[in-house]
Amino acid sequence: MSENRQFETSLVHAGEAVPRHQGAVVTPIYQSAMFEYSGETSYHDLKYIRLNNTPNHTGLHVKLAALENGEAALVTASGMAAISTTLLTVLRPGDHLLAQNCLYGGTRDLVTSDLADMGIEFDFIDADNPASWESLLRSNTKAIYVESMTNPLLEVGDLEAVPAFAKAHGLTSMIDNTFPSPYNFKPLALGYDISLHSATKYLNGHADIVAGAVVSSTEMIERVTHRLNHLGGSLDPHAAFLLNRGIKTLALRMVQHNASALQLAEALHEHPKVAGVNYPGLPSHPAHERARRLFKGFSGMLSFDLKGGLAAADCFMKAVTLPIVAPSLGSVETLVTRPAVTSHAGLDPDERRGLGISDGLIRVSVGIEACSDLVQDFEAALSRC
Ligand SMILES: *Cc1c(COP(=O)(O)O)cnc(C)c1O
Repeated sequence: MSENRQFETSLVHAGEAVPRHQGAVVTPIYQSAMFEYSGETSYHDLKYIRLNNTPNHTGLHVKLAALENGEAALVTASGMAAISTTLLTVLRPGDHLLAQNCLYGGTRDLVTSDLADMGIEFDFIDADNPASWESLLRSNTKAIYVESMTNPLLEVGDLEAVPAFAKAHGLTSMIDNTFPSPYNFKPLALGYDISLHSATKYLNGHADIVAGAVVSSTEMIERVTHRLNHLGGSLDPHAAFLLNRGIKTLALRMVQHNASALQLAEALHEHPKVAGVNYPGLPSHPAHERARRLFKGFSGMLSFDLKGGLAAADCFMKAVTLPIVAPSLGSVETLVTRPAVTSHAGLDPDERRGLGISDGLIRVSVGIEACSDLVQDFEAALSRC
């Protein structure tokens, strides 16, 4: 139905009930744990919230698949539920995973601690250096896992080499596409087997729910769904309703996030008190050309260092008035954090600095406020620090 439609149209219409439920323009919240038995023969087909098949789930599955041109999709209770359940579908005890070396903190801990406890081995790879991957392959290597843009340095690895390498060596390729969102980047079109999202971020966009998504082939989504049915990380119908509502405005929001972040990055880049800005949209970014080739826009995430280091960063965080000092990202409000004391606080300080994350680094999730107000607020804070 939605195959030939533009992305913006799919956001609004894909997966919406035909015919409408009682004529309702918006699919109502089906707040019913179980549904009347109607002859189902498989456990996974019984209608029950945990089995991910209420009308609020199935509509979202069609919509999410349409957004990234996947055959199928699955919503989950959180981004981590999507990531953990999918990794536990693809990998078994004794298997080996190649994973990018600067993963989202929760994913990194999952791989190094929880999966390791289950006998799943891993090696970290430099995603920008495909020539170094082959020497890390083992007979039990089953999958390769990367992120479209890394947190908090906004690095863009060799995203084209990953699916090619996976195909050459019989691996499943997986990518966390949370930062660009499906508006800016569609990994399945590049040959990835599985795209993962924290829908808590741009997909929902309003900082009021936690949710996740998996997009892949019909066969893979059936396997992940059966795993999720047993592990239990299912999205509540009310959260599914809010996510569906949020997704409808994804394109409008991303246009503003993309434009504002670029403008703010340029203003910071030129500011005499700023030592460096990490944003793939700047020509000074090491992977700028690659990001331009692969992404429609560069998203709303950036980070920067001040010449005054940690003391100036502390001062800046107190002096800005519009941004909210809070973790997470991808919502309509501008948020600022210092990764050294939030997302990357768990790392050994030397290891953290080795990754390029200074103690004073400031990460910004640029919201959809008027960019001129943001630039003015940032410049006023910088003038005082
Ligand atoms: C937030 C985030 C996650 C985890 O998602 P939750 O919804 O918080 O479970 C995973 N990957 C990335 C890149 C994220 O930003």
